[in-house]
Amino acid sequence: MKFETKILHPIKKQNRNIKSKITPIYQTSAFTFNDLDELEGYYQGNGNYLYSRVSNPNTDELGEAVARLEEAQAGIASSSGLSAILAGVLAVVKNGDHIVAADDLYGGSFHLISGELADLGVEVTVVPFSDVKKVEAAIQDNTKLLYTESITNPMLRVEDIDAVVGLAKKYGLTTLVDNTFATPYHCKPYTKGIDLVVHSATKYIGGHSDVTAGVLVGNAALIEKAAAKVANLGTNLSPFEAWLTCRGIKTLALRMKEQSSNAKKLAEALRSHSLVKHVYYPFEHGENGFGAIVTIELQETVDINEFFRGLSWVKIAPTLAGVQTIVTHPLTTSHRALPKEAQEELGITMGLVRISVGIEAADDIINIFTQALGKA
Ligand SMILES: *Cc1c(COP(=O)(O)O)cnc(C)c1O
Repeated sequence: MKFETKILHPIKKQNRNIKSKITPIYQTSAFTFNDLDELEGYYQGNGNYLYSRVSNPNTDELGEAVARLEEAQAGIASSSGLSAILAGVLAVVKNGDHIVAADDLYGGSFHLISGELADLGVEVTVVPFSDVKKVEAAIQDNTKLLYTESITNPMLRVEDIDAVVGLAKKYGLTTLVDNTFATPYHCKPYTKGIDLVVHSATKYIGGHSDVTAGVLVGNAALIEKAAAKVANLGTNLSPFEAWLTCRGIKTLALRMKEQSSNAKKLAEALRSHSLVKHVYYPFEHGENGFGAIVTIELQETVDINEFFRGLSWVKIAPTLAGVQTIVTHPLTTSHRALPKEAQEELGITMGLVRISVGIEAADDIINIFTQALGKA
């Protein structure tokens, strides 16, 4: 072999029975075959891989890991929470079909279904899922899917999953639940009869604010259809991001335990503060907290910008779920595109602040918020 050829065909270590403790990153766009028999073997399902847009060991590991935690049959990873939602929705509906969705869905999800999918001829009706009668009244002959979130944003309403499953059974509909805020640590919608469960793995599944990723889990037949959507739409996740997300999962229990416990302590402390008008937290669920998001509404007399400035190491960031505590201002970010009436109806006011509680010491978290209130 000449030098020019040698640099292109290194000696591969694959066959040396290397037992790495952690799955290596398969940073490769495609996989090789020695002959047509091996290639045929791939199509017969011998466990080999073909092309990373279709599947890759790292993205498979992530999909399977979350499926295992949600106790679902199968799972797939994709490039973002939104693309996982898109794959799940398109596995169920096509042009001419109808979706009934919650009116308090995450903003990006709302734009996806009521904007993009509506443009493609999918009908959507949004209703408050807090009222099962309204959900039932919205069901039409062409309805195929009921879509809601297990804990909503930013008001932290805990969905009555059993009621949603009951309606779906009655009308023969498929159900999709976004379990991003709750995580399988607090809630496993698939075990309650939900068909498809979706995660923005950008949030708690990854947990470190360093990846954008999505995961969809559910029954095997639907996941197979959704996997074809991810491959055909090209919304696959990169191997490196799948690998990072799998690393994050290893501490999911530790993080959720600590973050939820800190969140409950903060919510309790702020509940009795004179400058806090209202604290939204699912107090009645879970002994040591139920999720790690706390939303507060400040009194009108509080200077909201001074409050944010007073938070020092707690930064404003338009995300949630990382190990560091951060805050968001829904009115001027996630919910800014909504009409004024919709903002008012959902309770999105100037004084509303969503806190994503991290793993810092609970006392430090409580102190920084009470100090900032003192200065505002
Ligand atoms: C962030 C988020 C999404 C969208 O996920 P991306 O990873 O940003 O695409 C969907 N649903 C919920 C509840 C979210 O918080």
